[in-house]
Amino acid sequence: MDILLNKAHFPVTVLGPGRRIGLWLQGCTIRCKGCVSRDTWPADPARAMPVAALLAWCRKVAADGFDGVTISGGEPFDQPKPLAALLDGLAAWRASAGLDFDILCYSGHPLKTLEKRHAKILARLDALIPEPYADGRPLGGLWRGSDNQTLLPLSPRGQARYAACVAAPQAEDAKRMQVSLQDGRLWFIGIPHRGDMAALEELCRARGLELGQVSWR
Ligand code: SF4
Repeated sequence: MDILLNKAHFPVTVLGPGRRIGLWLQGCTIRCKGCVSRDTWPADPARAMPVAALLAWCRKVAADGFDGVTISGGEPFDQPKPLAALLDGLAAWRASAGLDFDILCYSGHPLKTLEKRHAKILARLDALIPEPYADGRPLGGLWRGSDNQTLLPLSPRGQARYAACVAAPQAEDAKRMQVSLQDGRLWFIGIPHRGDMAALEELCRARGLELGQVSWR
């Protein structure tokens, strides 16, 4: 089975606890105002890859150890069957290799919608951050973009790792963005604060670097 993938990165250290595999799925029908990942919106068939190949990549990059997998997008639940296949593959790897990594998934859908339509997928997750990004609302808690977004531990493993983070704020001085350079493109990973991307663009311009195509407008 194929899955539409925007990007995969390891290690990710700003979207969940510890060193994580980050998977950003391609395609989002929600289209929140203020989204900084507009490049993930089109369900572009050119982004298709076999779930088995993605799992093989995960095994390869994280062979020396890791703490978790973060699945974001795009909207992961816009691809329910590939997402379920990916989660089943991760669970099988975890069990067969005796690993204890957790799986955290973001969604822009309300929790009630996910519970109604995708209960079987939720049962495969350790933690979930649901609800659409709300540009007009205050900044959210740790690993979240706006304060309507909750962090929900969904399994005993999720409870053990995330319960203490549910009410945790994002510390002003904490690292919140990573930058990676891949194929001549700059990737910003994490949850920017309001105005961060415009400020970054201005800083680059001041140093003679004009950002061409950006994902936040
Ligand atoms: S913030 Fe997430 S759910 Fe909202 S439009 Fe962007 S990718 Fe989609």
